[in-house]
Amino acid sequence: MVRLFVALDLPSQVRERLRLLTGAKLPGARWVPPENMHLTLRFVGEVDHGRADDIDAALAGIAARGFELTLEGVGAFESGRRLQALSLWAGVVRNPALEHLRAKVESAVVRAGCEPERRKFSPHVTLARLDQPDPAKFGAWLHANALFRLGPVAVEHFTLFSSRLGRDGAHYTAEADYPLGQRALQ
Ligand code: ATP
Ligand code: MG
Repeated sequence: MVRLFVALDLPSQVRERLRLLTGAKLPGARWVPPENMHLTLRFVGEVDHGRADDIDAALAGIAARGFELTLEGVGAFESGRRLQALSLWAGVVRNPALEHLRAKVESAVVRAGCEPERRKFSPHVTLARLDQPDPAKFGAWLHANALFRLGPVAVEHFTLFSSRLGRDGAHYTAEADYPLGQRALQ
C-alpha cells in the first residue's frame, strides 16, 4: 500500500518566501519545513500498487493549460487527524484555471477507482500544525501576516506524491510530474 496525494509543488523561491512566515514562537506549533510545502489538489490516501498505477495513467492523460497563481493572506482551520488540532496556512487568490485543473484531477482519480471527494476544495498551503491552540497566540500570528501576498507564480506541471508519516513528520516523495500545456497569453 502507498499513501498518495496530488499537489502543486512550489518553486524553491516561493517556499523560501513562505518560510519567512514560519518559525514564530507558537507553543505546540509544528512548522512545515520549506521542502514539504505544497498545494494539495487531491488527497488520495492509501491505495495498493495496482490502483496507484491506474491513478498515474489517468493523471498522465490530463490535458490542461499552465497558469499563474497568487498566494494571499493567511488563515487557520481545524485539521483532521488530531482532536482540536489546527492548521495554519497561506491562502490562494481565486483562480479558475486552478479550479479547472483540480476538477480534471478529481475526475481522473475517480476514473481510476477512487471514491469522489465530498468536501469543497479550499486551496491553501499548510504552514504549521498546532496542537492545543491558544487563540491569543495564533491570533497574533494571523494578524501579523494578514497582508501576506506572493506571486504571480507560474504553474507548469502538477505532481503525484507519496507520503510516509513518521514520528518526525511526513516525508513526501514526488513519484511523477505531469506537464501542463502552454499558458494562454493574458
Ligand atoms: P500529518 O498527517 O502527519 O500531519 P500531512 O498531513 O502533511 O502530515 P498526509 O496526511 O499524508 O501528510 O497528507 C498529504 C497532503 O494531503 C497534505 O497536504 C494534507 O493536508 C492533505 N490531506 C491529508 N488528508 C486529507 C484529507 N482527508 N482531505 C484532504 N486533504 C488531506
Ligand atoms: Mg495528514
